[in-house]
Amino acid sequence: MKKKVAILGSTGSIGKLLLNIIKKNKKNFEIVLLTANNNYKDLYKQTQEFNVKNVILSNKDSFEKFKKLNKKKKINIHNNFKNLEKIAKTKIDYTMSAIVGIDGLEPTINIIKYTKTIAIANKESIICGWSLIKENIKKHKTNFIPVDSEHFSIWFGLMDKNRYDIENLFLTASGGPFLKKSKNYLQNISVKKALNHPNWSMGDKISIDSATMINKVFEVVEAKNIFDIPYKKIKILIHPKSYIHTLIKFNSGMIKIIAHETSMKVPIFNTLFHNETKILNSKKIDISSLNNLNFEYPNLKQYPMLKILKLLPVKNSLFETVMVSANDTFVNLFLDKKIAFIDIHKELFKILNNNEFLKLRKKQPNKIDDIIKINNYVRSKILKKIYKIKNAKKSN
Ligand code: NAD
Ligand code: MG
Repeated sequence: MKKKVAILGSTGSIGKLLLNIIKKNKKNFEIVLLTANNNYKDLYKQTQEFNVKNVILSNKDSFEKFKKLNKKKKINIHNNFKNLEKIAKTKIDYTMSAIVGIDGLEPTINIIKYTKTIAIANKESIICGWSLIKENIKKHKTNFIPVDSEHFSIWFGLMDKNRYDIENLFLTASGGPFLKKSKNYLQNISVKKALNHPNWSMGDKISIDSATMINKVFEVVEAKNIFDIPYKKIKILIHPKSYIHTLIKFNSGMIKIIAHETSMKVPIFNTLFHNETKILNSKKIDISSLNNLNFEYPNLKQYPMLKILKLLPVKNSLFETVMVSANDTFVNLFLDKKIAFIDIHKELFKILNNNEFLKLRKKQPNKIDDIIKINNYVRSKILKKIYKIKNAKKSN
């Protein structure tokens, strides 16, 4: 029997890595669904290569363009995630959720019902909507596997262990492209420099998040949600080589240190072939990295973004959505060269310390719409403000 696969966000960095793995074993897979936002050309190539029967293009223009490209072929083309029951007439075996941003939340939650296993890379869903994901996974008996390298490593390290046995959980961080750079240096950072991650090749959004270090704040929340471990037990360690992904210190005194080569193909491969004996063509063990781990606790002066952790409530709340949406908006403004690199952090803290939003720390999301509403509100509030600033500058 062929394994039925769906990939949400197949034209992105994670989506493409997964298709590369599948390519080596094509006859064993049936790709039921691929999705993208704008990139209809790559999506079209993927459908040709993998003989895909269903696609979803969220962007209306790209949806129309794809339709034109595809006149003679028998591909079902959709513009939203509302027809999943038609697409997945029998249960999908494995779904990869790899859309970037909060827009990935609704598709992720909607598809849980139709898939036996869901591997989630889309960290924004886990941060903002974990309570809803958890509820759906339980209801539909769907198997969940995290994809983010640190979380996949923790999941792997905890397979035979209980979360109550954990004394401390350490997430490693490379430090990004600006490790040990002075405050002065950070004043004038180009988009190109900020995108240039020393170890990982990733999508633009997560590359900037790694440079500002908010990615690690996100990952602490992810770890707290997925493994149900309190914030106080989760620590961050700078580790420039990114060879170790987690250290798990157990109450018994034992420490598990999980390493793998610095490529997302390793966690992705292992989520796809979980419980199967398959061989990944991976690099030999890297002794020189192991001899130079250089762990260090992060310096809050160098990475002020980490101070956000102090603001976060114990329970999953709508405040996390404010953090994700506001950061996302500022990162996009930086990528569009409308604000400076250091403004991402400065402006984000202004939003997070606003009483209107601090109040949301006591409000839990009950449905997807609660999260989407806050997301839209925060975005439009920021964009209005930035627009005003820009106009004021022009009139001066
Ligand atoms: P990417 O930007 O390379 O790709 C994003 C994909 O999502 C594309 O297929 C795009 O078409 C689709 N998409 C974007 N906006 C959309 C929208 N509004 N509606 C529907 N589809 C949309 O991103 P990526 O680097 O592959 O990351 C995907 C997710 O995985 C992110 O949440 C990221 O944080 C997480 N992640 C990525 C890595 C990595 O190494 N790239 C590692 C860990 C976690
Ligand atoms: Mg990570």
